[in-house]
Amino acid sequence: HAKERGRNNYQFFSQDMNARAVERQLIETHLRLALERHEFTLHYQPKLDLESCRITGVEALLRWNHPEWGMTLPERFIRIAEECGLIIPIGRWILREACAQSVRWRDSGLAPVSIAINVSALEFRHRDFFTHATAVFTSSGVAPACLQLELTESVLMRDVAASAELLTKFKAIGVEIAVDDFGTGYSSLSYLNQFPIDVLKIDQSFVRAIDGTLDGNGAIVSAVIGMGRSLNQRVIAEGIENATQLDFLRLHGCSEGQGYFFSKPVDATRMREMLLG
Ligand code: C2E
Ligand code: MG
Ligand code: MG
Ligand code: MG
Repeated sequence: HAKERGRNNYQFFSQDMNARAVERQLIETHLRLALERHEFTLHYQPKLDLESCRITGVEALLRWNHPEWGMTLPERFIRIAEECGLIIPIGRWILREACAQSVRWRDSGLAPVSIAINVSALEFRHRDFFTHATAVFTSSGVAPACLQLELTESVLMRDVAASAELLTKFKAIGVEIAVDDFGTGYSSLSYLNQFPIDVLKIDQSFVRAIDGTLDGNGAIVSAVIGMGRSLNQRVIAEGIENATQLDFLRLHGCSEGQGYFFSKPVDATRMREMLLG
């Protein structure tokens, strides 16, 4: 009866909690060694101009090449890295590596390519973030105008005044600012013109739901594109997987896109070939 069921539920619940705690601990232990063992690498996904289909830039995406687990995706470890603070040294490695890659591509004869870097909440709010980032730009020799920082709405909204000040400092040295996963965070739109935002990245959940009609989801996507254009922000659709989505986005004036329909994230060598055309 009910009492027994309740007890069983509790047991299952606690077993599940326990399994998750064990998994979390295991990942944290391995994460602590991953940097010195050089297990991280960056993959790159192109962003394309939807009219010309030319590559307008790339997004750097972290990959963990674990000796036993193989290629491990961020969803399995990024949150844990944030919770235990390891995202700070890992984020610093990501910034150094992305800047170094930008310089390597340039030195190999490619035209300057814009690299977007994802920044987590903890990194963005870290008191040394700007000082450290600018030191990396200087020592790597990268042009800050070739860099874009991707931040989610919730990161920006946590402390609006502090975010605005920091974004303004990055903008002043030429770094571009993109709002990642747009439409899934806080619903307050008033911040859109308080922050110096260059790019809105429409979250993939909206793109996935495009069915070619202007009903419901389609109306939202179209409105977001219109809003970005009115505010002079570039709009990038994330997660384009098919021609229906692409056609709809083009028709409604979305300037850029990214997704498996064009390319999955690839390693730096493959990305260079794609950039060569
Ligand atoms: P995000 O920044 O929104 O990145 C987009 C994610 O969608 C990437 O997953 C990308 O591989 C995936 N994606 C791209 N096109 C498609 C598509 O057409 N269909 C589908 N289903 N997925 C697509 P990934 O690389 O696994 O990264 C997941 C999230 O992990 C990222 O979301 C970002 O929040 C975080 N992340 C990744 N790399 C970094 C990093 O270097 N630093 C930080 N702080 N976070 C990162
Ligand atoms: Mg991103
Ligand atoms: Mg995103
Ligand atoms: Mg995301």
